[in-house]
Amino acid sequence: MSYYIIDGHCDTVHRFISKAGNYDFTRYNEVGQIDLPRLRKGGVKLQFFALYVESEFIPDGALLRCIQLVDGYYATMDNVKGDMETICNVAQLHQTINSSKAGGLLSVEGGEALEGDLSVLRILFRLGVRSLGLTWNHQNQLAVGVGEGSKGNGLTSFGRAVVKEMNELGMLVDLAHINENGFYEAVALSSKPVIVSHANARAICDHPRNLTDNQLRMLKDNDGIVGLSFYPSFIHRESPSLDSLLDHFVHVAEIAGINHIGFGSDFDGIDEAVKELDDASFFHNLVEGLIGRGFTTEEMKKITSGNYLRILEQVLPAR
Ligand SMILES: [Zn+2]
Repeated sequence: MSYYIIDGHCDTVHRFISKAGNYDFTRYNEVGQIDLPRLRKGGVKLQFFALYVESEFIPDGALLRCIQLVDGYYATMDNVKGDMETICNVAQLHQTINSSKAGGLLSVEGGEALEGDLSVLRILFRLGVRSLGLTWNHQNQLAVGVGEGSKGNGLTSFGRAVVKEMNELGMLVDLAHINENGFYEAVALSSKPVIVSHANARAICDHPRNLTDNQLRMLKDNDGIVGLSFYPSFIHRESPSLDSLLDHFVHVAEIAGINHIGFGSDFDGIDEAVKELDDASFFHNLVEGLIGRGFTTEEMKKITSGNYLRILEQVLPAR
C-alpha cells in the first residue's frame, strides 16, 4: 500500500523570489527542502505554499511584498506547467489528484497583508489565495499572535469580519500562530472547519506554538485539522527525532481523534530537519514510522491525505 501526501505548510516561495544558492524549483537542488523532483519522490500530491511577509515589510509594504510573493509563485508555476496545477476549487482538486500532476495551494501567512481592508482579502482570493493564517507571532489588525502571550480578548472587529468573509468566499481559516484567546473565538465564529497548518501537541512538547489538549478537543468539535510540523523545536526540547515526532501523532489521535490529523511540514521554514525526514523526498520514512506505531491502512489514508481532502471539499468553492 502506498499513500499520497497532502502537506499543509511550507516556506518555499521565498526561494522562488531570492533564488539563493541558484535554487531552481524544476530540478533537484543542493539547497532547500522542496522542489518538483523531491515532491514527486515523496509522493506529495498537494503542497500548500505559504506567502510569508517578512517583518521588515510590516506594517508598511506588507501588501506589496505579498503581491511580489504571489508573482514569484506564478512565475515558478509557469515553468512547471503540465506538472503542477494551482488548486482554487474542489473540481480542480479532484482532477489534479486523479492526474499525474501535483497541486499547489496558495496560503497567506499573517493577516498584515490585508492592510485592514476586506477588499484586499477579496482580491487575494481572485488571485488564487485559498488559505489565510490570521496572524503570525505578533499582534496585527485581526488578532494577537502567540509571541505576545495571552494579550487581547480574541479577534478584533476586523478579524471577525475577515473570518466571516473567508467562510463566504471559500477560504481556509488557518489558526497556526494565533494566541489562545484568538483561537477560541475564531473556532467558535467560523461556520466552516478551521485548520492549524503547522503545530504540534503541547502535552508532548511544551512550546507556545503547540496546541493544548483543550485546543485539540475544540478542533475535533469544529471538524478541523492540525498539520503536525517537523520543526525540531516543536517536536522535542532536547532531542528532536522522527521517533519523538511520532509521539505527537499518537497523542493527537488520542485527544482529537484520527479524523483531525494531517501534515504541516514547514519545510524551507526550518534550517535543519530531523534525521530521516530531511526534506520532502523522505515522507516514506514518516509513513513507515506511523505504520510501526499501529495506525491501520484506513487511518493512514486519513492522516496522509483524507482528512485534508474532507476539509478542502467542505471549504473551497465547488468550481
Ligand atoms: Zn509559520
